[in-house]
Amino acid sequence: MASDDQAGGEVKTFKSLGLCDELVEAVGKLNWESPTPIQVEAIPHALDGKDLIALAQTGSGKTAAFALPILQDWIDSSRPKIFACVLAPTRELAIQISEQFEALGYADGLKSAALVGGVDMVQQANMIGKRPHIIVATPGRLLDHVSNTKGFSLGSVKYLVLDEADRLLNEDFEKTLDDILKVIPRQRRTYLFSATMTKKVKKLQRACLRNPVKIEVASKYSTVDTLKQQYRFLPAVHKDCYLVYILTEKSQCTTMVFTRTCDATLLLASMLRNLGIRATPISGHMSQSKRLGALNMFKAGQCNVLICTDVASRGLDFPVDMVINYDIPSNSKDYIHRVGRTARAGRSGVAISLVNQYELEWYIQIEKLIGKKLPEFAAQEVEVLQFLERVTEAKRLATSKLKEKERGSRKRKGEGNEGEDDVVGKYLGHKDGKSRKFRKR
Ligand code: AMP
Repeated sequence: MASDDQAGGEVKTFKSLGLCDELVEAVGKLNWESPTPIQVEAIPHALDGKDLIALAQTGSGKTAAFALPILQDWIDSSRPKIFACVLAPTRELAIQISEQFEALGYADGLKSAALVGGVDMVQQANMIGKRPHIIVATPGRLLDHVSNTKGFSLGSVKYLVLDEADRLLNEDFEKTLDDILKVIPRQRRTYLFSATMTKKVKKLQRACLRNPVKIEVASKYSTVDTLKQQYRFLPAVHKDCYLVYILTEKSQCTTMVFTRTCDATLLLASMLRNLGIRATPISGHMSQSKRLGALNMFKAGQCNVLICTDVASRGLDFPVDMVINYDIPSNSKDYIHRVGRTARAGRSGVAISLVNQYELEWYIQIEKLIGKKLPEFAAQEVEVLQFLERVTEAKRLATSKLKEKERGSRKRKGEGNEGEDDVVGKYLGHKDGKSRKFRKR
């Protein structure tokens, strides 16, 4: 990962940041040659005992920026019970952070436990029984264990980290987070890390920081230089055709396609599979084992196109060559997170946004946020529309398959007959290429 853009031109080493020999050896084993900018900025302050608010791009090495100082203190300590608690908004991100802690602390016998929803509570209680040093959790499940798992206490926690902090400080986590903060000692160090960060002082105050050092290694809401970003303005009815065209043109790439709804992930994945494209869906409506199964298939290369909602937009770290915004996010910050899935760790990547007539306003907001006008994705419309017939048929088949499935599950549940149009509408989300929201206008 590039790191020669450090202050004063002086190339820093992990050792020169003040890390101990054990950790210098651990990063060496991971073949990390030098610290990344966020690590250069954050680690010395953290080792100095300061609280941190760090704004770092996704893929910048931010996990290690908070994990290494915590591990250093843990190595120097008498290694008490639960030493640090890291909160993340999504299950996959929590699991990934936990794996990174274990990779860095492996030689020193560090145990980390990921406590996330959708996994058996008893199994997790057994993990807790093995006395982990680090807990990485999604807030809801952590609180479940605090309330229900005998002997589980966060009273020994010395470090609290909120990763993707702006999301965790949002209203949807407010009550859970406040309850967790009540059972974590106030005498602790607190790190907030995020690619985008709220400015609302009130929200930040909830994290109870003490004179935090603010670190910003990238300008706010920027995307990395190795990311090639493009857009294509197109009529809504041709969106599927453009998607298939791009995926066919770039069939060697690993691609994440972002949609707005869970139902759309199912429909698109099915349509693409009908066209011989190895696509799999992932969304918050799937069980945790199915979600992990889909991610593992993608990581193992069994499929090269992951169709996802924003559940997969934050923090996940695996090599992705291309991100396609099939639906333009209405919240521009989501764009930053989505495209941050590619061009990670110094690699290059492509992000293409398919913008229809109804999404233009949202797209303009995105360009404002990132502070640049993006070039257009070049494609001859006649070439793209050569796919039209096959795509229409593949979508028809996918739709009827999903309707069939829906009927089957309703029968099993013994529910009454929903009008056919409702079912199709639910799956399509974008019937006739228009979102429901716009059709209502
Ligand atoms: P993160 O931003 O924490 O998701 O990290 C992105 C990727 O960078 C992960 O795969 C890390 O393993 C990797 N990484 C973190 N620090 C370094 C480093 N100093 N040198 C090389 N790779 C790194």
